[in-house]
Amino acid sequence: MTTGILVTGGAGFIGSHHVRTLLGPAGPGDVAVTVLDKLTYAGNPANLDGVRDHPGFTFVKGDICDAALVGELLAEHDQIVHFAAESHVDRSILGAGDFVRTNVLGTQTLLDAALRHRSRRRPMTFVHISTDEVYGSIDSGSWPETDPLRPNSPYAAAKASSDLIALSYHRTHGLDVRVTRCSNNYGHHHFPEKVIPLFITNLLDGRKVPLYGDGGNVRDWLHIDDHVQGIELVRTRGRAGEVYNIGGGTELSNKELTALLLEACGADWDSVEYVADRKGHDRRYSVNCTKIRAELGYAPRRDFATGLAETVAWYRENRSWWEPLTERAAL
Ligand code: NAD
Repeated sequence: MTTGILVTGGAGFIGSHHVRTLLGPAGPGDVAVTVLDKLTYAGNPANLDGVRDHPGFTFVKGDICDAALVGELLAEHDQIVHFAAESHVDRSILGAGDFVRTNVLGTQTLLDAALRHRSRRRPMTFVHISTDEVYGSIDSGSWPETDPLRPNSPYAAAKASSDLIALSYHRTHGLDVRVTRCSNNYGHHHFPEKVIPLFITNLLDGRKVPLYGDGGNVRDWLHIDDHVQGIELVRTRGRAGEVYNIGGGTELSNKELTALLLEACGADWDSVEYVADRKGHDRRYSVNCTKIRAELGYAPRRDFATGLAETVAWYRENRSWWEPLTERAAL
């Protein structure tokens, strides 16, 4: 029997990779996918070109806050993988309204619709894609899933709110909600406002790159292939009401990351401009992935050096994908 999966935010960076994977040669084969995406500045129909003609693919342009539309769609689907969100921390510092609306209200609208349309035949698995940023900042060690949430940016606070609301629908209503909290993703099709694609595209154009503060902020980098691998394990074998951290195992300071990107793009430190630190900038993120490793057999497969080299090569070869985006967003 074919499983109908509604993927929200499926025209974005990670959502589109999940959809391409689900409908690609290595996918499960027994799924039909509907993407629901508002196509904000971050949503790009071109990300779905590879699956547009697949018989199991449908695209719906719409807002996850539209209760009538979401209700109609969920009446016809078995599962939801919920990526749709405002996702850029810097934008949330400039204005948090869209973040609260989409990330919090949009998630609750989806949860309500899932609850209305679940049945014995269709238990309605709801995979909520959260982030490691909900935990706050950690100087040493790594967060297990049981750590309290202490988000700092408006983005992280809105994600933490949606994460907790999602879990409350499991505890209160018994809805089959599964939450993933992953670290910083990198890879192809990444909107060029985020640090890795921003630095690559600037350097390929011979422009300077802005490094925040002292460059000492540390992130754990996760290739999108490994993130999608983790999401698939949670979707197919995870337990209802559980949270799963997903990490890549490559912790780097922004300065270390910059050095690698300079080398990969044939530039030097003259191309780096130190800029005032981001307000409230979290110093370090680090998730403990023992649970998903032990319970679901997750292991990141992508080596960072190779993954980064492939990512740089992709941006070199796909200017037609990113040039219109940098021009439109005035990056
Ligand atoms: P993205 O910004 O590339 O894509 C977001 C997508 O959501 C876009 O296609 C956009 O059009 C769509 N969208 C936004 N508002 C919408 C609305 N109201 N209704 C319908 N669609 C809407 O984001 P991403 O980097 O692919 O992240 C996907 C998810 O993963 C997000 O929930 C994010 O919080 C989470 N996450 C991302 C990272 C990362 O490193 N990128 C890390 C951890 C968690």
